[in-house]
Amino acid sequence: MIRPDLHLHTTASDGQYDVWNVARMVQRADVTLFAITDHDTMAALPAAADAAYERGLAFLPGVEISSAAEESNVHVLGYGVNPNDPVLCAVFEQMRQDRIRRIALMGERLAEMGMSLPMDEIFSSAGDSIGRPHLARALVKRGFASDTGEAFHLYLKRGCPAYVKRNLPDAAEAVSLLRERGAAPVIAHPGEIHLPMERIVQLLEQWKKAGLMGLEVYHPANRGHYAEWDRIAREKHLLVTGGSDFHGDGTNHGSIGETAKEWPRALHDAWALFRAAEKK
Ligand SMILES: [Zn+2]
Ligand SMILES: [Zn+2]
Repeated sequence: MIRPDLHLHTTASDGQYDVWNVARMVQRADVTLFAITDHDTMAALPAAADAAYERGLAFLPGVEISSAAEESNVHVLGYGVNPNDPVLCAVFEQMRQDRIRRIALMGERLAEMGMSLPMDEIFSSAGDSIGRPHLARALVKRGFASDTGEAFHLYLKRGCPAYVKRNLPDAAEAVSLLRERGAAPVIAHPGEIHLPMERIVQLLEQWKKAGLMGLEVYHPANRGHYAEWDRIAREKHLLVTGGSDFHGDGTNHGSIGETAKEWPRALHDAWALFRAAEKK
């Protein structure tokens, strides 16, 4: 029986474990097909393929692109990406520079508020895609917040004093970029898109025209609405995907393999994605 988890993060972005540890944990969780989908970086993918091969696990190389639509963040997963693709690498390098600028600015704002953080240390210990979770952990470590949730709530989320907006590509652009580069684009966790469900359904039509191939239905953020998203995806002839969005222990993300249990057609759906991503 195949047990997929198609959404996992490593230290290449804001996950807590490196790819070797994630692969070990994947196997321990009885997951047999996994994808690494770090934010805006493919740095972990070559090692992930080696780790999967060593452990006899099926593996799909992936990425999760940060983008936006109508003032909401939208994450676009891409499956079957080539980690050496020069066009994608250039886009992610540009995004990395933007992230660095933004986090440095947020660090300055926190310092002005009396919360100086060791920014050099944060930058050197962070992976390719430094983000607010790195600041949140540093705030907790220094005692400025009791946990990362509180750090976000008090200082880091939109509307808070240290918040700085990111320059993000439009979701349709991210979709068409992935499709052009031979990957299968999938809209991640629609339950985390801050737009009404009816509006998201309309946008799915537009994104399909840009090359969208799938919708991530079985993600912890969609819990309680699995049947609805599943029906919407299948009606629109989109591939149905799922994953835990594991980032590490004690984070407010899922644990490895958890959504596979609630995904009735996991075997069929995961293979459909696998084929679509391999075809290119
Ligand atoms: Zn995401
Ligand atoms: Zn994610």
